[in-house]
Amino acid sequence: MARIVMKFGGTSVGNLERIRHVAKRVQSEVERGNEVAVVVSAMSGVTNQLVDYVNDSANLFDLREYDVVVSSGEQVTAGLLAVVLQDRGVMARSWLGWQLPLRTDDSHGSARIKQIEVAEITRRMAEGQVAVVAGFQGVDSQGRITTLGRGGSDTSAVALAAALQAQRCDIYTDVDGVYTTDPRSVAKARKLDKITYEEMLEMASQGARVLQTRAVEAAMNHRVRVQVLSSFEELPGTLVVDEDEIMEQQVVSGIAYSRDEAKITLVKVPDRPGVAAGIFGPLAEASINVDMIVQNVSAEGGKTDLTFTVPKADLAAAVRALEARKGELGAAEIVSDSNVVKVSVIGVGMRSHAGVALSMFQALAGKGINIQVISTSEIKVSVLIAEEYTELALRSLHTAYGLDAD
Ligand code: ADP
Ligand code: ASP
Ligand code: MG
Repeated sequence: MARIVMKFGGTSVGNLERIRHVAKRVQSEVERGNEVAVVVSAMSGVTNQLVDYVNDSANLFDLREYDVVVSSGEQVTAGLLAVVLQDRGVMARSWLGWQLPLRTDDSHGSARIKQIEVAEITRRMAEGQVAVVAGFQGVDSQGRITTLGRGGSDTSAVALAAALQAQRCDIYTDVDGVYTTDPRSVAKARKLDKITYEEMLEMASQGARVLQTRAVEAAMNHRVRVQVLSSFEELPGTLVVDEDEIMEQQVVSGIAYSRDEAKITLVKVPDRPGVAAGIFGPLAEASINVDMIVQNVSAEGGKTDLTFTVPKADLAAAVRALEARKGELGAAEIVSDSNVVKVSVIGVGMRSHAGVALSMFQALAGKGINIQVISTSEIKVSVLIAEEYTELALRSLHTAYGLDAD
């Protein structure tokens, strides 16, 4: 007998027929003698719709009320799954974030989990009752509903698995595992049997949607055994594991991409100490994260061009903040471009192998793709390129690093 957490994403609970299918899978785990907690997302498309409602209702809104609205999709699926399980003769009840409670800080819209009280569900699970928990939501110290950021049900599931000291946290989704790159963009993407926590963390933070970054972080910190698998087919999935569980490490394990960034260039700013601080200060004040940065001295002496990326959603605010200081910064021009994509190659093998970045630059050059900005970390190389080359870049890099499926 094991204690397990099963998480089902939006497509997996997309309609009643699928919820019935989920109930069947949950029932089989119960019949194997396991204690089961299930975490559900909202039906696919529902959260987007709820976010749109809030955005369309006012220009500026109270994030506490945003959370009240956007958390509601999960309430529906938790209740429905409990009903369908009961209908199949499986003991089950739904739990909303505030009922457990799953306590978070008060950063509404992207709250962090502080603690989950599991005594009551543990007791009931031991008696054979399935706990159906609404993902994505919690409660702050004031008793107000919070949400955990888009894709946050993954984090609910991993955190619940940690709190329950579960043997497994199975993330059921619409693909049958973690692939070398998004299988919807590259037909030759290959399913990985295992991936390290570190690589999964980079893949997620560089744009692979399959797991939320915070979920991987939580799994890594609490050593939760996470498996990503298909909710539609009974196939082995991908295990997220420690590095020493992987025998032969590829140099590059995966490629991720993100269309969520936009590029800003400050043209001909004076090349003197304090300029970068002068530029990034106002952005930090506006809570805008800067990701990639490149500075190049321009032909004209004493001047430099400074290029960097910000989240696409923050582009207008970033440009506004900089335009307000344009004179002070001495910039000739502020140019922005949102038709860009960041492509990243990831692999722990990079630590011990030289030439990974070079292969990337050569592969892109071979296709005539211009690199606009580069950034690297210990296990990742990222480049910013024009968005229209996304698929071509992914395909050529996938082949260049020997990742193509047979
Ligand atoms: P869920 O609703 O189940 O949480 P998501 O849409 O959040 O599902 O995540 C699954 C999607 O992640 C897949 O449909 C796939 O297109 C995308 N994806 C991106 N990169 C990868 C990857 N490397 N491996 C698998 N899926 C990926
Ligand atoms: N329903 C939420 C979202 O769409 C949370 C999740 O699905 O993980 O972001
Ligand atoms: Mg998801």
